[in-house]
Amino acid sequence: MNSGDTVVVGAGWAGLATAVSLTRAGIPVKLYESARQIGGRARRVPFQDLTVDNGQHLFIGAYRETLSLMETVGVDIPKVLLRQPLQLISKYQDGKAFTLKAPRLPAPMHLLWSLLTAQGLSAQERWSAIRLGLKLKLGRLKLMQDISISKFLHLQNQSDTLNEALWYPLCLAIMNTHPQQASAEIFIRVLADAFLHQQQDSNLLYARTDLSDVLPDPAVDYIEQHGGQVQLGQRISRLEIDGNRITGVWSENNFHAASQVVLALPPYATAPLLESQPALKALASNLQQFEYEPICTVYLQYPESVQLPVPMLGLLGSIGQWAFDRQICDQPGLIAVVISSSGIHMDWPNSQLVDVISTELANLFPTWPQPTNTQVIREKRATFASLVNINQSRPTNQTAIEGLWLAGDFTQTGYPATLEGAVRSGVQCTHQILEQIN
Ligand SMILES: Cc1cc2nc3c(=O)[nH]c(=O)nc-3n(C[C@H](O)[C@H](O)[C@H](O)COP(=O)(O)OP(=O)(O)OC[C@H]3O[C@@H](n4cnc5c(N)ncnc54)[C@H](O)[C@@H]3O)c2cc1C
Repeated sequence: MNSGDTVVVGAGWAGLATAVSLTRAGIPVKLYESARQIGGRARRVPFQDLTVDNGQHLFIGAYRETLSLMETVGVDIPKVLLRQPLQLISKYQDGKAFTLKAPRLPAPMHLLWSLLTAQGLSAQERWSAIRLGLKLKLGRLKLMQDISISKFLHLQNQSDTLNEALWYPLCLAIMNTHPQQASAEIFIRVLADAFLHQQQDSNLLYARTDLSDVLPDPAVDYIEQHGGQVQLGQRISRLEIDGNRITGVWSENNFHAASQVVLALPPYATAPLLESQPALKALASNLQQFEYEPICTVYLQYPESVQLPVPMLGLLGSIGQWAFDRQICDQPGLIAVVISSSGIHMDWPNSQLVDVISTELANLFPTWPQPTNTQVIREKRATFASLVNINQSRPTNQTAIEGLWLAGDFTQTGYPATLEGAVRSGVQCTHQILEQIN
């Protein structure tokens, strides 16, 4: 490697994963973040005198790279993540329930058993879901070409009830894209990772602290303790390229020399940095084609005695999709309701949305009083849309410019826009940098 710093731009989970894994390999980094805080799309925000998250997140046991990164930076994982066997309990507004519980059996028996014993489905519906599970196990769900999840489920003879109670809510939660547009290829990949290898992969992991404590803060400590630097409020606005090689980046009028630069930014923030370079024009215009989906989280503070029957309750046939009990984070009475993807709620003012959500909860829990305080957080570009064939447009970590790399949940990881996708892309990027410089 020629002399010069290694710079990572963007301190979301992808940038942090890149910076930590480079640091671990003995390469100290300079990490520049435009915001005043780290964590990107998964970070703490204030709410009254509490800290909550910019959006309620859920982890699963198959998030191997994320868990391994947390271990690297010294996080006490059982202390910050509550691990529970897969259990989906969902309720319709009339109180009718759908329940799926995975027993402690080896994979994929736990999946098949949970489908066999699922409540709220007919025997025929259970059997068609089991057939889908068996095909997944036997590798018979490989697609010749990508199709939408709704089309895929139709071809697999999944009924409307099954779709409404199980597959569509999973699709929205995993893909943040409506089933009519979402990529079946990506969905099948996630199902396989969660259900085929080890029973623990399908575990649900709930954060017991705010998201910044789960990874970003400990990651920054690790980077700084190992000779790296993290600078906030530094928006990188231009790349410096000499011939076919990166030589540095600019923030305002400050030049930061670098021989390796990783842009760990969303596509819409990456493209403007690339488009003036002839060798990167095609990549920039590819990134401009990405579409985005929102996620809305409604926090409702009730008296401390209010509790959900489970840490996460599915809400069926309503605007709210999943309700989380923040008791797990030591915030009794605080309920977070998540609404993934676009919908009519995005046109409503916050007051209307809060009314609708609290009425939906009151229908299910008539003894609950009115919430005493509420907050709505709308992340308009929460994730890229995991559309049919999107995998074909996702860029690799390497670019046409020597020493310039991309990381981020949108790169080629095979995953939808998730924390694990972001972390994988960062770790993958580090492997490629090391391969090239060694
Ligand atoms: C509300 C919500 C709920 C979600 N729920 C889940 C979930 O339950 N489970 C799950 O796995 N995933 C979930 N996700 C997705 C997950 O949070 C993202 O996939 C992941 O955080 C993306 O990380 P990233 O590092 O790729 O991008 P980002 O987090 O966007 O990081 C990019 C960083 O770059 C910075 N930046 C931008 N431009 C510049 C510049 N010019 N110079 C310097 N810095 C710059 C940004 O400020 C940001 O910090 C959710 C996302 C949201 C928003």
